[in-house]
Amino acid sequence: MNCVVCKTKIQETFLRKPIGTYVKDEKGKKKIVCNSCQSKLTIEEIKKKL
Ligand SMILES: [Zn+2]
Repeated sequence: MNCVVCKTKIQETFLRKPIGTYVKDEKGKKKIVCNSCQSKLTIEEIKKKL
């Protein structure tokens, strides 16, 4: 899985849980955003990029 904003690969924990935040687009599809993009952008700014 890749970050929807910067397209870098999302790292996973040893439990294979992706390290990032899920956001839903307008169709209700789950997208993932990495922690660095999440800290730089607000949820509204991220949603504009989906
Ligand atoms: Zn990112």
